[in-house]
Amino acid sequence: MRVLIISDVHANLPALEAVLKDAGSVDAVWCLGDLVDYGPDPNECVDLVRQQPNLVCLLGNHDAAVLGRLDLSFFNREASLSVQWTQQALRDDTRQFLEQLPERIVVGSCTLVHGSPRNPLWEYLLDLSVVAANFAHFDTTYCLVGHTHIPVIFHYDGEWIEWVVPKDKEAVTLKTPVIANPGSVGQPRDRDPRAAYAIFDPEAGTWEFHRVEYPIDQVQERIIKAGLPTYHARRLSEGV
Ligand code: ZN
Repeated sequence: MRVLIISDVHANLPALEAVLKDAGSVDAVWCLGDLVDYGPDPNECVDLVRQQPNLVCLLGNHDAAVLGRLDLSFFNREASLSVQWTQQALRDDTRQFLEQLPERIVVGSCTLVHGSPRNPLWEYLLDLSVVAANFAHFDTTYCLVGHTHIPVIFHYDGEWIEWVVPKDKEAVTLKTPVIANPGSVGQPRDRDPRAAYAIFDPEAGTWEFHRVEYPIDQVQERIIKAGLPTYHARRLSEGV
């Protein structure tokens, strides 16, 4: 079974298109939230994700913010400006799609959340003690997260956290229990500006990280033309 795992598309259509093309034929697509905000194509990205086979899609904190469910004072100035821009840009059917997305979902042996199993919308799994504490908050074999925009695999043996930084296209057999993050399609923050995704086989327990180039300059031009904060354009070429 080939499941395409994507997260944090952030309204970056060329990055999403490049990922779907590079991934090729898959049995299902699981999207871990933050479809919109930051980028210039929220409706087009939601349209394309909705067409994917056997889609499972989660709500992210930026999706929730755009739906008006969060206080914008949690966001910095650039982020709250782009939330407001996205609120204006959303079509009704895009909004309706986002409105029905769950914060947490269990698919077979996998728990899917955007941030962390303890706090699905907000918690960042960056600090190893926070990661360790979160292993008590899911009871499936696998837990998949996004939110940090940094691809990584965390395994906990009950005492220590082992973490694996991915190599492009290398298939790993996951030790379990595990928390895995595919990285971000539309706004990578691990200093590699290429779009990130993963191919996961929940039956075999294998995971492959992938990176793919996309025309960053086109998105940057569109961000600036749309009147979105230029910082969201600049950071794309650096992957920060
Ligand atoms: Zn995000």
